[in-house]
Amino acid sequence: MLADDLLRSAPAQTWLVTGAAGFIGSHLVEALLAAGQRVVGLDNYATGHRANVEAAGRAGADRFRMVEGDIRDPDACREAVAGADVVLHQAALGSVPRSIADPLATDAVNVHGFLNVAWAAKETGVSRMVYASSSSVYGDHPALPKVEAEVGTPLSPYAVSKKADELYARAFADHYGMGMVGLRYFNVFGPRQDPDGPYAAVIPRWFDALADGRPCTIYGDGETSRDFCYVANVVQANLRAAVTPGASGVYNVAFGERTTLNELYAAIQDRVAERRPEVERLDPVYADFRPGDVRHSLADVSRARRDLGYAPTHSAAQGLTEAADWYLRHAAATP
Ligand code: NAD
Repeated sequence: MLADDLLRSAPAQTWLVTGAAGFIGSHLVEALLAAGQRVVGLDNYATGHRANVEAAGRAGADRFRMVEGDIRDPDACREAVAGADVVLHQAALGSVPRSIADPLATDAVNVHGFLNVAWAAKETGVSRMVYASSSSVYGDHPALPKVEAEVGTPLSPYAVSKKADELYARAFADHYGMGMVGLRYFNVFGPRQDPDGPYAAVIPRWFDALADGRPCTIYGDGETSRDFCYVANVVQANLRAAVTPGASGVYNVAFGERTTLNELYAAIQDRVAERRPEVERLDPVYADFRPGDVRHSLADVSRARRDLGYAPTHSAAQGLTEAADWYLRHAAATP
């Protein structure tokens, strides 16, 4: 059964989605509204966009309420969570380089903000909180593929913040009996992912550059690899984690295949060249490795498959094909 069918066949609930104006949060809002659910969104628009909220809200505006607020503010969290049955916590400051440049901001939002949301959820009697963790918690552990039980030392303040969230989640489950489910996302991409700013992720950045006829920068030798995960898979994992009885602990969320940066560049170049043939002649520029980046990342998703019935629908290649039009339309709109 598809994850949104699971929701349609159950009585409607009220969901709080934090980070609702962001890339992943807005897809969750849209999927929940499309499945007939009631949704409250919470965001301070630090990195999210009103346009994402508007686009997502079209799936059911009469069942959607947006709260503008900061998760560092306990009152804002209490207001947003009031009446919620389930919380999908996405709000955070992403990006490893951002966390190295400003660890205090990353900690305040990603750790203290997490705690505020979790505490408000506990006080309100929310049955389950599903939260965004990250593959960065694997840190320097050499094993490939990554299995949930084997983590190394986090390599950045961002990774430390996500690891701290997992530890707090465990403490909340143990002491308050809360249903806490962490999803370790691996390099998510898709429509509404921001191509702008110094901390943009690699896929939107490269679509943006190629659409503009600029060369892309590859940090390192290009053999660094990632398990790129299309956003539809992440939405499915969240919905399943929220409704599947017995789900607990942390789960890898990825497709389960590795793509090197050189392969990724070729795949994006192909898709852009279908629309702009001159891009075929553009070679990437190689620069130094970035501090804090792990060399290889590949997920073992068998725990999510077994416990949640997670069945990713899009490989990286399928996701790139599906998202190419959005990335190029957005790039074209950028001055
Ligand atoms: P995003 O930046 O698009 O979304 C995050 C949202 O949180 C934004 O709308 C932002 O305005 C909001 N936010 C930030 N600080 C806030 C605050 N203090 N109060 C309220 N709202 C605040 O990023 P995303 O890619 O959609 O990421 C969503 C979650 O997934 C984050 O927790 C991120 O760490 C995690 N994650 C993402 C990826 C990925 O590849 N995109 C990978 C691993 C984990």
